[in-house]
Amino acid sequence: MPLHSSEALVLRTYRLGESDLIVVMLTRDRGKKRGVAKGGARSRKRFGGALEPLTHVRMAYQEREQRELVRLQDADVLGSPLTAGGEACTYASYFAELLDEWAPDNDPQERLYRLGVAVLEAMRVGVGAERLARYFEYWLLRLQGVYPSTHACPQCGASLQGGAVLEPRSHWFLCRQCASHGQGVSVPAAALQFLAEAAHVAPAALGGVNVSSEALGQLAAAHRLLLVWHLDREPRAARVLREINP
Ligand SMILES: [Zn+2]
Repeated sequence: MPLHSSEALVLRTYRLGESDLIVVMLTRDRGKKRGVAKGGARSRKRFGGALEPLTHVRMAYQEREQRELVRLQDADVLGSPLTAGGEACTYASYFAELLDEWAPDNDPQERLYRLGVAVLEAMRVGVGAERLARYFEYWLLRLQGVYPSTHACPQCGASLQGGAVLEPRSHWFLCRQCASHGQGVSVPAAALQFLAEAAHVAPAALGGVNVSSEALGQLAAAHRLLLVWHLDREPRAARVLREINP
């Protein structure tokens, strides 16, 4: 049985019988894998805090012929959301859930992987969770090629610099003239400005970007609409976050 060692992000775990855990992880080189952590549910010792969602690990695992599940040998923690404190763990679960939704099995997704690692690192240096979440959603949808244009209205070609409305049926950003009145989510110019910055800076540099919590709140509403549209449901962790921050 070949032994592999790879950097990975833990996405989630669930129980397998009395004492084992199934671990879903996004490896850097070979995409999303599922592995069995023997004894992982019974004893926390062997894998320590390495199996929390969004933990960055170096994972040693064995592939088994004809079996989809790999066998996890051990994990070294390279970065953990547990050290970020506060609400970081809830946000970490949210990011990990979205990565899990979007990453196909056994298909390398290095850009998604790097997005996850960079956001984790930004969390650990204290970048605010709200702006990180909007950044993460923006890039996640962009990497899939489904983020609507933030530059020009698709109906009339006008610039969206002054703000836009996310139209709920087409899921485009329209200019205020083209948007049907009273429908859609208003996205102010400040939120679009934030996206323009997010397109160019690393998440660790987001702390220096000037954006109001009101603009981020409007962007959160627009992103929720886009995510539900593409996922067909609201992410579980997003509901938890909304209960924490109504
Ligand atoms: Zn227009």
